[in-house]
Amino acid sequence: ETVKPSNFLRQIIEHDLEKGTYTTRRWAGTPGDAAHHAQGEPDPAKIRTRFPPEPNGYLHVGHAKSICINFGLARDYGGICHLRFDDTNPEKEDTEYVNSIIDAVKWLGFDWNGAPDAAPYQASDYFDFMYRAAEYLIEAGHAYVDEQTVEQIRINRGDFSKPGVDSPFRSRTPAENLAKFREMRDGQHEDGSMVLRAKIDMASPNINMRDPAIYRIRRATHHNTGDTWCIYPMYTYAHPIEDALEQITHSLCTLEFEDQRPFYDWLLERLTEGGLLASPPPRQYEFARLNLTYVITSKRKLAQLVYDHKVSGWDDPRMPTIVGLRRRGYTPASIQTFAERIGVTKSDSWIDYSTLEGCLREDLELKAHRGMAVLNPVKLVLTNWDDVMGAGHLEPCSLPALPHPPEGVESPVRHFTIGKEVWIEREDFEEVPPKGYKRLFPGNKVRLKGGYVIECTGCTKDANGVITEVLATVVPDTKSGTPGADSVKVKAAITWVGVADGVNAEVRMYDRLFLDAHPDAGGKDFIESLNPNSLKVVTAIVEPSLANAKPDDKFQFERHGYFVADRVDHAAGKPVFNLAVGLKDSWGK
Ligand code: ATP
Ligand code: MG
Ligand code: MG
Repeated sequence: ETVKPSNFLRQIIEHDLEKGTYTTRRWAGTPGDAAHHAQGEPDPAKIRTRFPPEPNGYLHVGHAKSICINFGLARDYGGICHLRFDDTNPEKEDTEYVNSIIDAVKWLGFDWNGAPDAAPYQASDYFDFMYRAAEYLIEAGHAYVDEQTVEQIRINRGDFSKPGVDSPFRSRTPAENLAKFREMRDGQHEDGSMVLRAKIDMASPNINMRDPAIYRIRRATHHNTGDTWCIYPMYTYAHPIEDALEQITHSLCTLEFEDQRPFYDWLLERLTEGGLLASPPPRQYEFARLNLTYVITSKRKLAQLVYDHKVSGWDDPRMPTIVGLRRRGYTPASIQTFAERIGVTKSDSWIDYSTLEGCLREDLELKAHRGMAVLNPVKLVLTNWDDVMGAGHLEPCSLPALPHPPEGVESPVRHFTIGKEVWIEREDFEEVPPKGYKRLFPGNKVRLKGGYVIECTGCTKDANGVITEVLATVVPDTKSGTPGADSVKVKAAITWVGVADGVNAEVRMYDRLFLDAHPDAGGKDFIESLNPNSLKVVTAIVEPSLANAKPDDKFQFERHGYFVADRVDHAAGKPVFNLAVGLKDSWGK
């Protein structure tokens, strides 16, 4: 077990656990219809965090950071993290997104309350309670129905330079407000004709405290509650209540919500005073969102890439979505390591994309089976093969799949054959070698990795001067793993695949999706910096062990990088691999 470095969130949690901040909290009142969906009685001695996505798109690498923080802290401190759908906005939400989010969280290695098959929480389950809480606020003089137009409300709210102006409806009595609010609920008013606002402070320097809207009229079918409601709570009102009902202790969000914290506290204080919620209420803490170079982390912009067919879908391996990363070959462990490595801070910064790649390389280095693949093949003919080895002879060869197997584990063995003809990389032959070149050129000897030492004798070309075959002779008795293997010294070993048992494979060579390190910074049009060469498809030739891969299997193609058998398109008899990450960091160049 490595000791996890501390951060400000860990310090806050440790402080609260030590002080027993939440040990006296008990379920308040009888929300009954509201949060009793909770799995078992809450243990007041434990921390509770939550990950609250809006089901309006696929999760991306930024969400992965938030998931790892919230679920990770709960795990590390013996607490619980809730997966909660913040589904208070009926128009944009969809069950397709709900399911993809559940899959993403599970795939990253987390479950909720140790019960991965239990239904996650959903904000829409609390609509009844939220409505009752709104009536309470009205009765206590903390909320009023405003019939100003949206435009009037906006103008009268003012800005940083001047205080706001009270709405003419601000002084209505609680009885009048209650009657109006019930009319809103009962569908007696048009969409947008009035809103319920919290009555706080129209002169507050924080604009969010200038009587924010908490309920609006919206005739829309909700994916969970159908047509039960024609009024919906605003996010800023709903979110603190969701947290409180679920007895969240530490509500962790990104920095853009900092200005909302005073309202979060104001609302929970009022509802606690009114006996509707347990005390002490949850507290909100903000951390910096993830900004990753060459990557966009906005659901709306990612959606644009999908709908404009700039990528093949949400799970295109170039997408920073969790489904995209997964299809690209990322592992849950690599993403968790990444989240830990970048840490938690309170100031925004850019993380270099190479940090994410480094985490994947580290994870696959020890786990991924090795295999040989020739990505840019040219045929090598061993002209003396039939004479010294026998006509048509195929010599069985083998190599370990794992060069560094874990302690006490024996590496699986890969089997392949060598014959008169093998495929090699075009780049591994030079007719006139540049200075320092150690691979094949006339007169030079190299080892075919796991096979024999060979000596290059020349090449054949077509009418255009393009090399069609590289020619060499095999040096007998130099097979790897035999006593004669070291009898001839060579300066290089090259990778190869036998013509007899090599299998054609589609290999998708991915590069960064954007050429600009900050594709959408400062209002730039990110479409303009799309990399026209972010995908190149090649027909490679792979050794038999790779051709037998199952979808999602990851490999190191020796000398080339880490590749994954595509989860969608790879099939027996039709291998398809995606480049996950190269062997070395190429982002700095
Ligand atoms: P987007 O802006 O991409 O639409 P969002 O913030 O609206 O994302 P939500 O579904 O509301 O998406 O987010 C769920 C949680 O994920 C929130 O707590 C949010 O703060 C967090 N989150 C979103 N983007 C990032 C990011 N880039 N880094 C860290 N956390 C993030
Ligand atoms: Mg959102
Ligand atoms: Mg957002």
